[in-house]
Amino acid sequence: MNDIMSCYILLIGDSIEPDPGILEALNSQKKPVICAPSGSEPIALLLEFDIFLIIIDIQGESSHGIETALLIRSSDRFKQIPILFILEQNPGPDWKWSHQPSGIVDYMIRPLNQYILFQKILLFEDLRERKKTDEDLKQSKEELEKANTELYRLTENLEEAIEKANKMAVEAEIATISKSGFLASMSHEIRTPLNAVVGFTDLVLDTDLSLEQKEYIEAIRTASNTFLELINDILDFSKIEASMVSLENITFSPETIIDDVINTLSVRAYEKNLECAYKISPNVPNHIVGDPIRLKQILVNLMGNAIKFTSHGQIILRVNRETAPDSECCLHFSISDSGIGIPESKWNKLFQPFSQASYSTTREFGGTGLGLAISKRLVELMRGRIWIQSPNPESGDHPGAIFHVRAVFGMIKPLLSEKIPETYEILKGKHILVFEKNTTILNILCDTLGDYHMRPVPIEDSGFILQKIIRDHQAGVSFSHILLDADIPVTDLKDLVKSIRELKEFNGKIILMVKPCKGMINSHDFSNDPVIDSWLRKPMKRSTLLSKLSQLPEGPEPEKCDVISHGEDLPKHLFRILLVEDNKINQKVTSKMLSRIGHTVLIADNGLAAVEIMEKEEHFDLILMDGQMPVMDGFKATEIIRRREKSNQGDKRIPIIALTANAMKGDRLRYINAGMDDYIAKPVKSIDLSTVINRVMSKKNDGNLSEHQHESDSDISDF
Ligand code: ADP
Repeated sequence: MNDIMSCYILLIGDSIEPDPGILEALNSQKKPVICAPSGSEPIALLLEFDIFLIIIDIQGESSHGIETALLIRSSDRFKQIPILFILEQNPGPDWKWSHQPSGIVDYMIRPLNQYILFQKILLFEDLRERKKTDEDLKQSKEELEKANTELYRLTENLEEAIEKANKMAVEAEIATISKSGFLASMSHEIRTPLNAVVGFTDLVLDTDLSLEQKEYIEAIRTASNTFLELINDILDFSKIEASMVSLENITFSPETIIDDVINTLSVRAYEKNLECAYKISPNVPNHIVGDPIRLKQILVNLMGNAIKFTSHGQIILRVNRETAPDSECCLHFSISDSGIGIPESKWNKLFQPFSQASYSTTREFGGTGLGLAISKRLVELMRGRIWIQSPNPESGDHPGAIFHVRAVFGMIKPLLSEKIPETYEILKGKHILVFEKNTTILNILCDTLGDYHMRPVPIEDSGFILQKIIRDHQAGVSFSHILLDADIPVTDLKDLVKSIRELKEFNGKIILMVKPCKGMINSHDFSNDPVIDSWLRKPMKRSTLLSKLSQLPEGPEPEKCDVISHGEDLPKHLFRILLVEDNKINQKVTSKMLSRIGHTVLIADNGLAAVEIMEKEEHFDLILMDGQMPVMDGFKATEIIRRREKSNQGDKRIPIIALTANAMKGDRLRYINAGMDDYIAKPVKSIDLSTVINRVMSKKNDGNLSEHQHESDSDISDF
């Protein structure tokens, strides 16, 4: 209605003044009216105003009104506006005002009936209203249709985009699957023949060979080991790059990992006559949460490089705890060496794959140039950073290098108390004389003793030891222990120890620190001599050092040598073993290895053969089971054997060790989940095989062999 109020009735009369009767009638109903005489003026008004009804007042016989009506109707624009003629008399049944069909027309005859006039106006208003609604509706419909078309177009685009994205996702998935599949099969395919090469080389080396033959075989062994290293590095790097590596989150002791790393690498260091030690700050927790195997991998790589590029001096690994939120433990490792160092100009490329500081180092030292790139990516996965520190400019030809690693681990609740164990409390305040030729190692040793509140007295020159003991005794200090570096000529050492023993000023314990390498002094040199109380094998484990020291002097008490024996990993017992392996060459290599150790071996060509042999109630102590085999694979065979053991409740659980060329991440868990007890990746070395067998068999004897030992250690090349 509001709309109607804003539009007008145009009243056209023959005279300038409109008929006062009509005007009055319209005004009384408050209808907005515009008046105009016949002619062209009404057209101008129609153009200017919004008119919803034209009333033409025709007086007498005048034709002006009719002509004006014709003029109005001649424009299409005004055809929709109804015209109401006011006539003097009834025009008769045939009245028509025009011959052309045109918009709505009506008439009224004088004298005007005001009521009817109103009804008509209302009718026209209503008509206009409806028309307007129709038009609005039409317009809305059109707009809706337009919007619909647009929506349809957008939906089509969206569907197309979704389809494209899905296709891309599928393609990416296929690429990832085929990449990981490719890596897995490459790993398997290369490891299988390499197993034979490494295994037979070891076996041949144990036979009678001429010097020349031995030299050639040694060369094959070195080359195949390098090849294996390269394969492992390339696989590892590609897996990290393809985001196929995720870190473990398990509780572990950083000290155990560091002990492992140092133990593994120290032999190489001592062969080069380098010293090697580690120092763990007392603020480093006993247990943290993270991926111990990956941490070990980083440290082995950095320590390995340090040893590789150092010809004299020492390699030191230090660990310190840095500030971090309560739930986290940020550890800072630094590995320093006294080797050739790396010029600063090479630093920016150092952590990129396949980059080596110079071609001459590659020729001289070998290596793939992947170690640091892998370490960098692993450290980043540990929310950390790896960097190299400026060499010491005063160190001349041997500036050395210091690699730093900062990594973030989880903390466990302070349940496992981090305080000093009570056994070490008795060491508080004890005076310990420490003789060590290498200043850095001497400082580290004294620092460690200081961490446990002992009072170490350092000596770098063995010639001052006796003098020092006597002088300090006179000053009221008596030593409870003397730690002696055994790296001096044997006769000198024997004389020194004898002289110390003869001193009335000393009645403590003498502990020798020895390097475990050929030609070095060992327990046999003192076998008939009770002057030595104890031995410590370098590099010294902090825990072993402390426990040896906590055996306080009560008079000399000779102890067995702590020098590593290479026979340590050899089996204490011999077993009857079922070897399940389809590859003929590998059957031969592995069975030879086992029988050479003294085990009895029976071979099954595949899983089904193994199941059948086991059914015949043949007695075996252990099964070595390959994974992928024709006829029946190792998983299925293990499943059947385990199921059978469960149903025949009398059957004891036979240990099954997976012996496989599959060394991809996740493989180990697959084997363990399938009911196997341990895992060893090919190529297998005799010593590793012995270690795994001993480990599994001693677990069995201790009654610790059960299903799903996810956390058992394994010297697998998986991680
Ligand atoms: P690789 O040792 O297998 O060649 P890395 O990525 O571990 O590969 O090391 C890359 C290069 O960095 C080495 O070839 C060597 O030139 C240099 N480098 C690494 N560590 C040291 C170090 N401690 N002292 C001197 N040079 C080093």
